[in-house]
Amino acid sequence: MFNDAVLPFVFESMPVRGAIIQLRDSWRDMQAAHDYPAPVAGVLGQAAAATALVAHSLKFDGSITLQISGDGPLDMLVMQCTNSLDLRGMARHQPIVPEQFSELVGNARCAITLNHDKQEKPYQGIVSVKGETLAGCLEDYFVRSVQVPSHLQLVSNRDCAAGILLQQMPGENGQLDADDWRRLGFLAATLSPEDFTAGAGVGLLRKLFSEDDLRVFAHRDLRFRCRCSRQRVENLMRILGEKEARAVCEELGKVEVICEYCGKHRSLDAVDISRVFADHVVTGSDTLH
Ligand SMILES: [Zn+2]
Repeated sequence: MFNDAVLPFVFESMPVRGAIIQLRDSWRDMQAAHDYPAPVAGVLGQAAAATALVAHSLKFDGSITLQISGDGPLDMLVMQCTNSLDLRGMARHQPIVPEQFSELVGNARCAITLNHDKQEKPYQGIVSVKGETLAGCLEDYFVRSVQVPSHLQLVSNRDCAAGILLQQMPGENGQLDADDWRRLGFLAATLSPEDFTAGAGVGLLRKLFSEDDLRVFAHRDLRFRCRCSRQRVENLMRILGEKEARAVCEELGKVEVICEYCGKHRSLDAVDISRVFADHVVTGSDTLH
């Protein structure tokens, strides 16, 4: 059994590949600096599972970002996972939120962005958020934007975020029996958070697809890891501008920046601001950190 890991597999007798995922410690870490109401935490956990399920198959150094923004009480949700499975995410929401996914997001769109570290232009696909689940919305994205019919089941509670993704192999759609595909979707949809109590291991896969031969590959660990840094905060200051930064510093004695993902506080005083906006910036000076 595995916690905080993705386990990829293929069906031996059908052109279908899949991956199953479970997050526990990483999911707890992601919520640690926040006090999300249950419906928001539910969608965030599902977004975490979904994003990592896609990121594990990225064939380049980079990341995938899933972003939901709409006019519902869930103002914004961002989930990001790198190809090495460093995951971070956050949500902004109104004080009172409804239980139902469709009411929570309102009229929203879901953008999925693939960022290559070595290419300037990211690839972005956008779908409007319709239906009762995030999984349904993402299945829609897979068909419309990348032409890969998929079954996706996502589950989450306070302790566990998990899911399974089944995808038809590109170019081999004709060889897959429609009844088999429906059957796999039905089986995937039966998964609940309780099924993941003992982790997302081979045993769970074999139990779920007891009629099918599976080839299961090595699992890959994932973790919550924020990419924020003092350097990024200083870059943010440069975008904000010297005048604005100095004004805030004069009023409050310092500029305080709180990372929305991990909750880390970083503050810059007048000396720091001067250094950030100096013409010749000396980076890595220990005395100023
Ligand atoms: Zn952070």
